[in-house]
Amino acid sequence: MVEITRMQFLRGDLKGDNVPFRPPWAIPEKYFIDFCTRCDKCIEACFDELIVKGRGGYPYIDFKRGGCDFCEDCLNVCETNALKKIPATGNLSVRNNNSNKREEYSETTIESDSETYLPPWHIKANIDLNNCLSMNATICRSCGESCEDEAIKFNLKLGGIAEPVLNIEACSGCGACFSVCPVQAIQLTAVPLKEVVA
Ligand code: SF4
Ligand code: SF4
Ligand code: SF4
Repeated sequence: MVEITRMQFLRGDLKGDNVPFRPPWAIPEKYFIDFCTRCDKCIEACFDELIVKGRGGYPYIDFKRGGCDFCEDCLNVCETNALKKIPATGNLSVRNNNSNKREEYSETTIESDSETYLPPWHIKANIDLNNCLSMNATICRSCGESCEDEAIKFNLKLGGIAEPVLNIEACSGCGACFSVCPVQAIQLTAVPLKEVVA
């Protein structure tokens, strides 16, 4: 039996394939939809105006506007626990301030010596080399220059080609490269948690 969340129903996404990118530290989608009161405080808090009102009034990140610097301003104004740091143990029990219910859920543990919390999200970039200008001998380093995590390096090849190579481990999914690519050769994908910890 497949569970269809209220949000999936609202947007007609019965397979659950098209969950929008929620703000960083959003709790898992089915809880997020219950906890978020659509108060817009995270939208107002984001200095870079990355968070916009989406289907059903729920906030999502519009990466066309730029990359997230994980400043935590949205996290800090969320009063309902819809945005919440999840301990690296993956176990979290939070009170739903919206309904006074107590909700519990657990996620797969991420093994890490240094991290106390799970990453703010599990989004990763991907470069479509077929569309990349640099692969077609046109000078472009925009994605690499925008990446503060230095996750994109260029391998020089014959014929004036510089191939962008993405270090997926280093990529925080901030989205900075996405908005600066002049030919939309970069995609961002939310990686399921079980793949993140594999
Ligand atoms: S962490 Fe900061 S930059 Fe990122 S979405 Fe939240 S408020 Fe905006
Ligand atoms: S910004 Fe886009 S076109 Fe430019 S090197 Fe990066 S992927 Fe290629
Ligand atoms: S490669 Fe990853 S970390 Fe670097 S700019 Fe792109 S999304 Fe951000």
